[in-house]
Amino acid sequence: MKATIMYAAGDVRVESVPDPRIVSENDAIVRITRACICGSDLWPYKEMERTPGGRRMGHEFIGIVEERGKSVRSVKKGDLVVAPFAWSDGTCEFCQQGLHTSCLHGGFWGGAELDGGQGEAVRCPQADGTLVRLPVGPDDELMPSLLTLSDVMGTGHHGAVCARVTDGSRLVVIGDGAVGLCAVIAAKRLGAEQIILMGRHADRIALAKAFGATDIVSERGEDGTTRVRELTGGLGAHSVIECVGTKQAMVTAATVVRAGGAIGRLGVPHYEGIPTTAKNFFDNVTVSGGPAPARAYIEELMPDILAGRIEPGRVFDRVIGLDDVPDGYRAMNDREAIKVMIAF
Ligand SMILES: [Zn+2]
Repeated sequence: MKATIMYAAGDVRVESVPDPRIVSENDAIVRITRACICGSDLWPYKEMERTPGGRRMGHEFIGIVEERGKSVRSVKKGDLVVAPFAWSDGTCEFCQQGLHTSCLHGGFWGGAELDGGQGEAVRCPQADGTLVRLPVGPDDELMPSLLTLSDVMGTGHHGAVCARVTDGSRLVVIGDGAVGLCAVIAAKRLGAEQIILMGRHADRIALAKAFGATDIVSERGEDGTTRVRELTGGLGAHSVIECVGTKQAMVTAATVVRAGGAIGRLGVPHYEGIPTTAKNFFDNVTVSGGPAPARAYIEELMPDILAGRIEPGRVFDRVIGLDDVPDGYRAMNDREAIKVMIAF
């Protein structure tokens, strides 16, 4: 089969690799029908040191179960399934408390050892705990939105939960990528009254407004903070969802949140220590967040997608074939595309 391998920053190739096989009785083999490129894939695309064997890429996919190990019960051959970006057993102490990304027997797709989602098929470990059946056909028009259950929609929802968004909240979303846009959807869904998006790309801003953003702030640094303070009656926002991962974004989060508020961190941190610890302390601000337990949120979010109440699939503005994945990375990195879907 063919799969995506990253060898170094800017060096992504689609190459032939061995077909996946059942190794453990908990495994399933999934033939992929839809996948995508993630904003988090752009970090290694910018920074990865050259690695001779390369690294298998992709952690968001929908596919059809082709074969299952002998203990797998929840899915069978022919089922259409979505996979979250971490695989998990669904039974350990952390899975039971809804923190599947910390599963005692789980892990993440790709790398040197495991298949990634940007390929024709994967071996899925812990298939019973990981895969969720979809009640539609493989070419249903809801595919783009259902694919976001793998990561970005669950991640946006996690940000809203961590930032304690509730009915009537005033909220700031920092970052206008696919996760920031899904955070807007999630916050509106949970009843936020004011949703301020901090971003500066016209196409993304238009989508954020369609998803429910009430205000847009394109200034950065102190000017951005001043503008948000003006928009929130001088006191700042109850909730901030940080979707970038830079030191600057965390500084902005700490200066736009109101005393007693909460910051949900979704951007993979590219800073040493939280730069605003003292300010957060004296303002009694809660800082939480981390990788979303996307698996925990699928059952909650899927009915809203099936009923058309939310349309997170609109973040996909380009569809490519597997052979064009290297150009898909380039297009996302150049901000030419918001999020790229791969159709097989
Ligand atoms: Zn577990």
